[in-house]
Parts: sequence; structure tokens; C-alpha cells
Amino acid sequence: MKIGIIGLGLIGGSLALDFRAKGHKVYGVSRSQRTCDIALQNGVVDFSSCHPEILDNLDVVFLCSPIGSIASVFDRVRANLSPRTVVTDVGSVKGEIVSVLHSQWPHFIGGHPMAGTAQSGIGAAQSNLFEGRPYVLTPVEDTSELALTTLKVLIRELGSQLYTATPHEHDKAVALISHLPIMISAALIATCTDRHDAAVLALAQALASSGFRDTSRVGGGNPELGVMVAQFNREALLRSLNSYEKNIQSLRTLIETQDWPQLEALLAATKRERPNFVQDVDS
Ligand code: NAP
Repeated sequence: MKIGIIGLGLIGGSLALDFRAKGHKVYGVSRSQRTCDIALQNGVVDFSSCHPEILDNLDVVFLCSPIGSIASVFDRVRANLSPRTVVTDVGSVKGEIVSVLHSQWPHFIGGHPMAGTAQSGIGAAQSNLFEGRPYVLTPVEDTSELALTTLKVLIRELGSQLYTATPHEHDKAVALISHLPIMISAALIATCTDRHDAAVLALAQALASSGFRDTSRVGGGNPELGVMVAQFNREALLRSLNSYEKNIQSLRTLIETQDWPQLEALLAATKRERPNFVQDVDS
């Protein structure tokens, strides 16, 4: 297939690498000439340009710029697309993007690959980022069959696990398992750097090991992405934060009242529940 990738950063560049490796021709469009040059030099794409003219006559276009720019980026390139081109996006929040783009393009389908690293930009692009990871498509009632079947084929080629959900269900689910953890993890890092004397802080920094690495990872990621998910998934994120605050309050009460049996019961329940969310962990 001839595949266009707009926004050659971590996600766009990683998709481009995998699609090229599967034998597709990849046409990359990005904002900066430097990014386009690096993408070409590093073999991430077959062709690159800052101008949308190279998107003529493609089978599929992936919109991979930051969430807040996806609709305007599409608006800038749509005149260059052929009417049969399937358009999808990779934004981490689906509700607003799908409601805008679905009405503007007959073969649009929203998508979200559930993979990432703490890095960003073209230099962070890597092969096989999506292998074994969930990839959610968010068709709506009258999403085009062409868009759905084309994306299903490409997602299987990435080695991802395909899921479908409504945009609304998707946003509520990712608020819980992706956007809430960013905020909790950021709060953890902020708490550790707050109000401690210099010697304790230096010791804590020296002693921080695997537990802190796991729990702080997403709070130390791309700040622009964190702000965008909060803006675009605000209601679902606020609901998740309310529920989290209640759970923190319950834990605090158990500790204040020294109710160790109840605390143990609660921790035993969370230990039982965790494998329902993450299976590939041994500790
Ligand atoms: P990123 O590494 O910062 O890459 C975004 C790229 O978009 C930048 O390299 C930039 O290219 C380009 N760009 C920015 N504004 C543009 C514009 N107006 N027109 C064309 N290109 C533009 O970000 P990312 O992590 O790949 O995220 C991209 C999308 O993937 C977001 O919508 C995000 O929600 C979604 N997503 C992210 C993750 C994650 O964990 N990071 C996971 C799943 C989905 P230049 O270098 O040319 O400026």
C-alpha cells in the first residue's frame, strides 16, 4: 500500500519504520524540514516533505501530530487526498477528534495505538514499538467498511492486538489506565521533591530503584502529551481523579486508625486485581 504519515515523531516515525519493513511505500509529512531530512536519512520513510502535495493518491493516511493539532493538520492536507484515501489518527483521546473528522471525511476511522516511551520526536522512532500492544479502533455507526477493513489489515501487520470501542468508551477506559496514572505519577515525583531537607532528598535520589522507576515513569514523560490528554479528556479524567482521591482517603484512614487487618485485606485485593490489567509481569 501507499501510506502517508503526517507528524514524524515517536508514534508517526515508529509506524513508518514498521510499514516500510512490511514492504509498503511510506510518504512522510512533518512540520520541520530538519525532521523530514532526518526521517529520510535514517530510512524511516521512502519520501518526505513539509508540503502535503506528496500525499496525492495514497491508500491510507495516518495523522500523528499532537492531539490539539490533528483536526487543523487534516484541514490543511485534505485537498491533496484522493477521495478513496482512508484517513485515521493516532490521538490518545478520541471523542472530539472522531466527532470532527468523521463528518469531514467519508473514509475516516479513529485509532489509538497503546504504546509509547518517555521520548519524543523523530529520534525516538523505533521498530516494533506496537508489537504485542493493544491498538484500539473507534468506529461509529456509519464508519466506512473500507476504512475499517484497511486498518484491521495494517494493525495485524504491526503485530498489535486489535480492539474496537466507541470513542466515548475508549476515553473513559484510557482515563483510568493511562491518563490517571500520568497525573498520579507526576504527583508522586512532586511529592518526593517537596519540602524535604537537602540531605534526605539527596539520599532518596540515591536510593530510588526499581519500584520508583516503575511508578514514576509516566510522570516523567512528554509534558505536552500530559497537558493535551487533560484538556481533551477532562471530564473522564476528573471522574477518575475523584475516585482516586476517595481511595487515597480510605488508605489514609486505615493507617491513621492503625487498622492493619483491613489494610492487609485491601492490599490483598489489589494484588489479586492487578493481573487483570497487566499479564506480562512477574513482580
Ligand atoms: P512527538 O514525538 O512529539 O511527535 C509529534 C510530531 O508531530 C513532531 O515530531 C512534530 O514534527 C509533528 N508535528 C507537530 N505539529 C505538527 C503540525 N502542525 N503539522 C505536522 N506535523 C506536526 O509526539 P508523539 O508521542 O509521537 O505523539 C503523536 C500523537 O500520538 C499524539 O496525538 C498522541 O496523542 C499520540 N500518541 C502518543 C503516545 C505516546 O505515548 N507518546 C501513544 C499513543 C498515541 P516536527 O519535528 O516536524 O515539528
